[in-house]
Amino acid sequence: MLKNPSVYIIGAGASGLASARVLEDNGYSATVLEAEKKIGGRLQTDIIDGYALDHGFQVLLTAYPAVNKYLDLASLNLAYFQPGAVILSNGRQSVMGDPLRQPSMLLKTLLSPAASVKDKFLIYRLTRHLKAKTINAIFDAPEISTLEYLKAYGFSHVIIENFFMPFFTGIYLEDKLSTSSRMFEFIFKMFSQGRAALPANGMHDVAQALARPLARSAIRTSTTVVNIEPDNRRIHLESGEVLEADYIILATNTDKVLPGYHTERILWKKCTTLYFKVAHPASNQQLIGLIPDPDTLINTLSYAQRVDPQKDNEVMLSVTIVKEHALEDKELIEKVKEELLQQCGFTNLRFVKLYHIPKALPDIKDVLYVPKNVTVSEGIFIAGDMLANGSLNAALLSGDYAAKALIEQHRSVMDQQR
Ligand SMILES: Cc1cc2nc3c(=O)[nH]c(=O)nc-3n(C[C@H](O)[C@H](O)[C@H](O)COP(=O)(O)OP(=O)(O)OC[C@H]3O[C@@H](n4cnc5c(N)ncnc54)[C@H](O)[C@@H]3O)c2cc1C
Repeated sequence: MLKNPSVYIIGAGASGLASARVLEDNGYSATVLEAEKKIGGRLQTDIIDGYALDHGFQVLLTAYPAVNKYLDLASLNLAYFQPGAVILSNGRQSVMGDPLRQPSMLLKTLLSPAASVKDKFLIYRLTRHLKAKTINAIFDAPEISTLEYLKAYGFSHVIIENFFMPFFTGIYLEDKLSTSSRMFEFIFKMFSQGRAALPANGMHDVAQALARPLARSAIRTSTTVVNIEPDNRRIHLESGEVLEADYIILATNTDKVLPGYHTERILWKKCTTLYFKVAHPASNQQLIGLIPDPDTLINTLSYAQRVDPQKDNEVMLSVTIVKEHALEDKELIEKVKEELLQQCGFTNLRFVKLYHIPKALPDIKDVLYVPKNVTVSEGIFIAGDMLANGSLNAALLSGDYAAKALIEQHRSVMDQQR
């Protein structure tokens, strides 16, 4: 084993890029192999008509500990959402804000019919409680579903149906709130302690910001790994090239590349995001919009970032669907237009783009904060959000853990050779 081992990272998503960074910080350098033309994995954005169209609506939570460790937030030129959401129903709007952080929302929030006075007090109490609760305590707590948790906390069905259900459906990408209460407490804490934001040029900028500081690593895009031989750590590429590695970090699903390793196949949650140009915004552009009506397909609304500063009178509306449906794309676009008219009063919508994201978030039953078992065997490690929970924080943290496990193993081999 060499002092400077050859290290390959498979996958240039957030987890792979975080691994490369930790390796560099510790004096190692790696080659990152990425199947797609662009780095970023699930952090993808197209710039269309002067707007940043993310492949699926997602937000950057500035309170995530791993985000603060690995990202220079100032370089992302963030646009912040106001804390809270606007609930849209049959042409009416009501705001559920956090008046403690945005005092101008106090009156609107108090008057909102989406929750009772008791609910509003419970939100205040839960916010205080979770701000004080440590992340470790959150993930050590027994798990129940988010729905059971909210009911047990005393929230009324009105606020659950009008606010929690659509808000967390948009985050979990499942509409039963069956996701673990640990995830609920963690996400609620992160929303309470920081801001939800979007980089000026969309979420792909997060990947660019992770890659930018890498000085000694090489990133090979359009390079698909077919499989790896675990015993001798040979990496077979689709091109026929074979790479000899001392260490490999597999920063993606292991199913195909390392067959038989995962006993349980990873299940994925999906969503569809559609973009429309529209003349006038139906609500405050800095608030996330929610449609709680159970018969409506649309779950979440927001406005895409304008990249081209040239002013026009239009905005780019982003619409996310989580519920199951059997509509063809054409039918779906028409259905969404109808719902936007009925629920929000939007007219003259011009369809721009649709993204189906079949593997948006891993469906994890045992939600963790830090990944377990990042070491597969001698010289092979794994990373990726599917090892802990479906979030950018988990992806970055898993990359960190895999790289540190690699470094520890290499140091111990070097010590034995001395
Ligand atoms: C629609 C959507 C909404 C989301 N919302 C949020 C949110 O609001 N907040 C939040 O915190 N998180 C959110 N997430 C999750 C977050 O984006 C992910 O947790 C994170 O980006 C995952 O990074 P990763 O490195 O684990 O995996 P990935 O990003 O999937 O990276 C894996 C990489 O490996 C590459 N690869 C795979 N196989 C091979 C191969 N054989 N050879 C070479 N390369 C290969 C892939 O091309 C990919 O680039 C959302 C995700 C989506 C899609």
